[in-house]
Amino acid sequence: MLADWSRPVDVDRLADAGELRETDLPLADMPRLVPALASTEGTAHCRIVFSRERGQPMAEISVEARLGLRCQHCLQPVWLAVDDVSKVWLVTDPERAEELDPGIEPTLAPEGRIALRDLAEEELLLAVPLVPRHEDDTQCAPTEEQAADRQQEEEVVQRPFAGLGELLKRGR
Ligand SMILES: [Zn+2]
Repeated sequence: MLADWSRPVDVDRLADAGELRETDLPLADMPRLVPALASTEGTAHCRIVFSRERGQPMAEISVEARLGLRCQHCLQPVWLAVDDVSKVWLVTDPERAEELDPGIEPTLAPEGRIALRDLAEEELLLAVPLVPRHEDDTQCAPTEEQAADRQQEEEVVQRPFAGLGELLKRGR
């Protein structure tokens, strides 16, 4: 099934047929998304509906996935739930895009062809923040330095009780 999604397909044909394509794409098979991921396990549920509006092929792209991004503070996974829908014009000529509805992004389909995987991947990439981070620093994994500091603090806390046994004996 993936072969169908990674191979460029004729967008005019899909638009005229009003095709609906739906699949679960492995995240590991999205080369532009992979570098942003801390974990490439899992799939994205992708659904693309083709239509023609104002004579131009259009795609409505829905993606649903749980992405394990790399927190730029602690480098551990920070999970992002994606559930997005976008419409794009599929244009062969970038100049043509200016005549179309400016509220809808044009996507270049060279020679009228585009891989469905690329459309879905683009939609997922839009959801990825520029600098992924845990919302709250306390969710971040401690760095080695912080872990060492924390251990030292615990030792300090324990020290006042170290001599307690001795003190009790002496008190008798
Ligand atoms: Zn973090």
